[in-house]
Amino acid sequence: MRRATLLALICLLVLATWPLASAAPPVPAADARHRLEAQARMWAMAEGPHATELWYRLRRLGLSAEDLLPLHGAAPGRSAQAALDEIMGVGELSAGDDAVVHGPSSSNVARAFRSLAAAGEMDGIELVILTSRDDDLRGDIYRLLRRRKFRATTGPDEGIDTRSLSCYPGCIFVPGEEVDAISVSGWVDVLRHEARHVEQLRHNPEMAWDFVQNGRRTIYAGFCEACADDGLYTTPLYYARERMARLREVVGTENESLVQRACRGDRAAYETLRALFDRLVDEGGGFDVLFQPAY
Ligand SMILES: [Zn+2]
Repeated sequence: MRRATLLALICLLVLATWPLASAAPPVPAADARHRLEAQARMWAMAEGPHATELWYRLRRLGLSAEDLLPLHGAAPGRSAQAALDEIMGVGELSAGDDAVVHGPSSSNVARAFRSLAAAGEMDGIELVILTSRDDDLRGDIYRLLRRRKFRATTGPDEGIDTRSLSCYPGCIFVPGEEVDAISVSGWVDVLRHEARHVEQLRHNPEMAWDFVQNGRRTIYAGFCEACADDGLYTTPLYYARERMARLREVVGTENESLVQRACRGDRAAYETLRALFDRLVDEGGGFDVLFQPAY
């Protein structure tokens, strides 16, 4: 009896302490960040002086391991030097000082914008940081972005006519709350997505009306969003990977220039592509089924 009680007590003790013994101690955020930094530095140093020099240039420009490691993670076989070159390839972050940024200029989005501007990717485009104090059209855009939980818009891609603003057609709006929500390299992709909308607007001044009709996103909007996110994949909302792969599978590489023209917002090319797809497709639904907006 006594032995049985002792055994039961031991079992109880083991069961009570089991979760404590098996759970790993939580890693403080600062430690995790420090470890990432050290890992990235070692990774760069292992590849010699050139990579190390690039690494220290990145540090001086205020980039951290969090900006660097996703590149390594995306292609583990790539050398540190290639990944570092890719980051530096978007342009010197200290350059692009003449880029037009309306709002604080030290945020991640502003740094990403200036680096793209220095590389010539933001010609004629202005970055507008919005706050809750904005009124009129800017205030409307701010509230819409906050309500829809979107980080950025050019206006017409949300059905908003921006012709009255001085930045038209090259406006990219970002709410102040979001400027540091993602890393500099994350913002580079989002800004490239928005710059494609600016190009679509330049080819189609009716874009705001073509994107939203009777309060609903159109098929044209679903198509243009997939194009804007093609290869960037900033959000799963637009199914860019699946939709663009299906489109190219059906129309073939011989029609790639037509796809590119339609993606730049050209309405006539869009209608031609849509008719061509519907003529060629034999199963799985037509163009309008493929690009039905789901957001
Ligand atoms: Zn978009």
